[in-house]
Amino acid sequence: MKVVMLGAPGAGKGTQAKKIAAKYNIPHISTGDIFRANIKNGTELGKKAKTYMDQGLLVPDELVVDLVVDRVNQEDCADGYVLDGFPRTIPQAEALTKALASQGQKLDYAIDVDVPDENIVRRMSGRRACVGCGATYHLEYAPTKKEGICDVCGGELILRDDDKPETVEKRLGVYHEQTQPLIDYYTNAGILKRVDGTVDIEEVFQAVVQILGE
Ligand SMILES: [Zn+2]
Repeated sequence: MKVVMLGAPGAGKGTQAKKIAAKYNIPHISTGDIFRANIKNGTELGKKAKTYMDQGLLVPDELVVDLVVDRVNQEDCADGYVLDGFPRTIPQAEALTKALASQGQKLDYAIDVDVPDENIVRRMSGRRACVGCGATYHLEYAPTKKEGICDVCGGELILRDDDKPETVEKRLGVYHEQTQPLIDYYTNAGILKRVDGTVDIEEVFQAVVQILGE
């Protein structure tokens, strides 16, 4: 079972990807993990990627695709995998389709975890982080015992810049421009499935299991 997760940043696709990986016993693959593993192991691809990252440059699509294809060809991916955070753009998706096809492979499902922007902004703006120990909370879903005070260390809680509405809206803008076209791309490929991501994590996962099968 080869699955790619789609959805806006903050929609919860990473959480669902982890749950899919655990239930179906397939690797959860994120590009961040691939980069780190290749750089740590000093592979040729890792060295190439590092030269870009060291200069603060984006790793070019061809190299990212090479890294992903190299990863999905490893033994633990024989029964499938779930890709999280890749592809992000149409050129990446096209390159991935082509690279997989050259090996007689193709993706089986693209699962879009659908959450309206306003829900994402609301979710993110409820996050709080402790300035003392870094513990994270959520005003609605994971509140502290005492308002504004860290349960662990008694430190002050703040809304991180990353979680501020203006930052989240900017990221959502990039998503709509670059990543949302993938929904049409995978619809045309006949593998797009959509789940409602506004319900709770377990309910979203039940919908995912409906698609992938027990
Ligand atoms: Zn703390």
